[in-house]
Amino acid sequence: MQELLDPKPLGPRRSPPGPVVIWNLIRRCNLTCKHCYSISADTDFPNELSTEQVFEVMDDLKRFRVPVLILSGGEPLLRPDRINTGTRNLFRSSMTSNTCSVLSSLGKSVSAEME
Ligand code: SF4
Repeated sequence: MQELLDPKPLGPRRSPPGPVVIWNLIRRCNLTCKHCYSISADTDFPNELSTEQVFEVMDDLKRFRVPVLILSGGEPLLRPDRINTGTRNLFRSSMTSNTCSVLSSLGKSVSAEME
């Protein structure tokens, strides 16, 4: 509590983690919410990242010390590769899905087995 009332500057020995990242991984979505923030549609959009490109970005985020990665969209479960953060063993991760639930894991897979 004292730290909140009288915050001290970070000393040289403290090394805070990077920021939490929320990543809109795919634009495709199987819903058509009027309030949609990502202008999604139930179609493939050009120039989305390949699986390997996604993993390259994840590796960059790891180097940047991102502690938590939240995969969103669109509907991230519609990616054909079902991106698996567990294979990178990088982050505490979660996924926001239009099933109105949040699937959380500690670096475990969010995959087809969960259907
Ligand atoms: S579920 Fe999300 S991404 Fe899909 S249409 Fe609704 S707001 Fe957009």
